[in-house]
Amino acid sequence: MRKLVLFTTLVLTLSCSKAPSIDVLCTTSVVADAARQLLPDDIVVEALMQSNIDPHSYKPVESDVAKLSNAGLILHNGLHLEGKMTDILDKLGEQKPVHAMSSALRMHELIEVGPNTYDPHIWFDLQLWERCVGKLSFFLIDQFPEHTEAIEENAMNYYKALLTAHNEMTVAINVVPDSMRAMVTAHDAFSYFGRAYGIEVHGLQGISTAAEFGIKDMTESAQFILDRGLSTVFIETSVNAKSIEALQEAVAQKGGEVRIGEALYSDALGEKGTPEATLIGAFKHNTAQLLKSFN
Ligand SMILES: [Zn+2]
Repeated sequence: MRKLVLFTTLVLTLSCSKAPSIDVLCTTSVVADAARQLLPDDIVVEALMQSNIDPHSYKPVESDVAKLSNAGLILHNGLHLEGKMTDILDKLGEQKPVHAMSSALRMHELIEVGPNTYDPHIWFDLQLWERCVGKLSFFLIDQFPEHTEAIEENAMNYYKALLTAHNEMTVAINVVPDSMRAMVTAHDAFSYFGRAYGIEVHGLQGISTAAEFGIKDMTESAQFILDRGLSTVFIETSVNAKSIEALQEAVAQKGGEVRIGEALYSDALGEKGTPEATLIGAFKHNTAQLLKSFN
């Protein structure tokens, strides 16, 4: 009898270890934040890519593949932000629910950067992101119908928080003269942000960090900084700082001077436990740094 109990315990332990340990697995920290805002705390949400990770060049390792196949459902940004994960996400979509945040948006709302290619950095236009969160809430209600009430309530509260942050930035940027409203960053992650808040954005590396930048880009960017009289250029937490350091040097060679500002959060949010670990926290950090650079 004792043997039978031990055997049963072992079988139960083994079968439990095969059960999905992560309910909702998200590719990036930005997407995971949206899911955490909506879902009750007892549903396990995890991001595959931690802070400082660049999603454009991220290739899933073996342990990620195991996580992806064990997770209950998968959330990703879409629009090829996770450029090296396209095939695996397509395959997973045949086995389990897979949802892209960008599926909430229509073509005309997206920034086209080439034939059938759209800028994937949709989250820093908070009004656009609110739409993505709205569609996500319907998807999550379908998946977790027992939590419908909580998801609806969390969504309503989160819409308000997004709107407040959006309005605060709109008020703050409106006192900055048009001629000064420009920013230079390591890669083009802020085009939707720039469109939403009336800021001309210049990224050294294009919309993907996989693209190379040349001497011509460097010279043009240096000239742009001098023409617009920018005091600061920005590095990003998930992108190598070398290109921006070279740009600072290129400005100096033209007889100008530009400082490197505090790193902005672009494709990854901050470390767990910091205010910047949420999208709104990261947005506030970025906007505070940018507004400071105009003074
Ligand atoms: Zn990016």
